[in-house]
Amino acid sequence: MSYCEVASLSADLQDPDRIYHDTEYGFPVTDDRELFERLMLEINQAGLNWRTILKKRAGLQAAYAGFEPARVALFDEQDIQRLMHDARVIRHQQKIRAAIYNARQVLELQERHGSLRQWLDDLYPLSLDQWVKCFKQQFKFVGRETVQSFLLSTGYLEGAHEPDCSVYALILAHNPPWHRH
Ligand SMILES: [Zn+2]
Repeated sequence: MSYCEVASLSADLQDPDRIYHDTEYGFPVTDDRELFERLMLEINQAGLNWRTILKKRAGLQAAYAGFEPARVALFDEQDIQRLMHDARVIRHQQKIRAAIYNARQVLELQERHGSLRQWLDDLYPLSLDQWVKCFKQQFKFVGRETVQSFLLSTGYLEGAHEPDCSVYALILAHNPPWHRH
């Protein structure tokens, strides 16, 4: 089932899947903090239900310093212990360590490329296999499915929405990366 169908099943406009589908999924993201948050959400989702992540999102944001890469990069062993005991987050040590490592890697990209976004734009366009290779060289806990979901959700890969979904045209008006080339 496509995410468009999942979201359309709910008549509740406040449904978390519905809100995400209608306002974020597939829309281009230009801000590094937001790109980092979206990558972290996808990493935390691995092996779990996306809806679980959406429901925990506010708690994850609070526990992970608003997903500000510069702040998460400073997390130490004490923070790892704190997060391992924090019910708001996914208490999976590798995911927690990946968040800190990846935040540091974002800072490194900002230094080398100006921004995480610029790194993505400079790489574009790539095949999914090539994207996965680049992500694996740069980040931790980035399996093929995680990378694909992240790129679909941020507009770097085509196919987030069905062409007959009402959000599809809205996204085209925002000229996502996949549509620029
Ligand atoms: Zn849709």
